Amino acid sequence: MRLFDVQGLVRDAVQDLCSEHLVPQAALNQYWPWARVRAEQEEQRLFDLMRRLTPEDYRRARFLLGRHAAGPVRELSRQWDRLWMRFDFFESVGDWPWCQVEGWWYPCPVCRWPMRAVRCGALFDVRCEAHAPRGVHYRYRPGKGSGPGELTGTGKAAVPVTPLPASSDHLAVSRPVWRYGTLPVLLELQLHDKLAGLPFVDVEMWPGEQRPDEYDLHITVTVPGRRQRHWRVDAKAWESVVALGRALSDRPALRRGLTIVLPDHQDSERHFLGDQLAHRGVKVTTVSRLVECVKTACGALR
Ligand SMILES: [Zn+2]
Repeated sequence: MRLFDVQGLVRDAVQDLCSEHLVPQAALNQYWPWARVRAEQEEQRLFDLMRRLTPEDYRRARFLLGRHAAGPVRELSRQWDRLWMRFDFFESVGDWPWCQVEGWWYPCPVCRWPMRAVRCGALFDVRCEAHAPRGVHYRYRPGKGSGPGELTGTGKAAVPVTPLPASSDHLAVSRPVWRYGTLPVLLELQLHDKLAGLPFVDVEMWPGEQRPDEYDLHITVTVPGRRQRHWRVDAKAWESVVALGRALSDRPALRRGLTIVLPDHQDSERHFLGDQLAHRGVKVTTVSRLVECVKTACGALR
């Protein structure tokens, strides 16, 4: 695995791996300008705040984390509305040099969070660290004048995106909140969209009102004359499945019968995590595999 990019900076995946494994990072300090966070602590801080919300605000906050994780401050404060002042997880994109090209930044078309820009000769590679495996990567050619240069898609999901000024009035949720808040919500919304409208299928989003982080999605399949089937789903988008397994193993209360859902690109790692959690009665799958299971159960595949 390559640890540093061509400019000698620690690559994003390495930062997440260190954070998830709680590696002492003294050696990385000079390369890593962000506050050191213990991933689980920051995830906990986010969900402690979420837990204090009313059930309605909680569901609203989950949705906003997925759909409005970055953008112009006016647009964000309008969308977040009464939750805006309670959320102190936003930072200025102007303070993040790693996502800027010539004073501009590009939101990922999937998660809206700033894509990373890495100089590559006279050009820049621009890609979303989480969604590059799905084909969200671009090549940036500097412009002649003061405006933004030309961004060309190089991946199959690289739809056109609008450049935004990297100024202090453009904000984005902090990196840990993006990874442990925004990315799982996007998996949950993706699952919901794929299952919506299937016959005999009911999908409830973020139903756990007593313990909001226990499970995120409750899928019920009720085919007349057959036994009802349930999936209680917790989506996870950690960079390291090994660290995720360790964090979940340490968790005293893990609901039996829970289904952990990983992004499709972690398909080859699902058995590893499944083996680690089997004795707790927890199953592990991916978005596409779960959709196939539910479609089979409701008869949509026959
Ligand atoms: Zn993205």
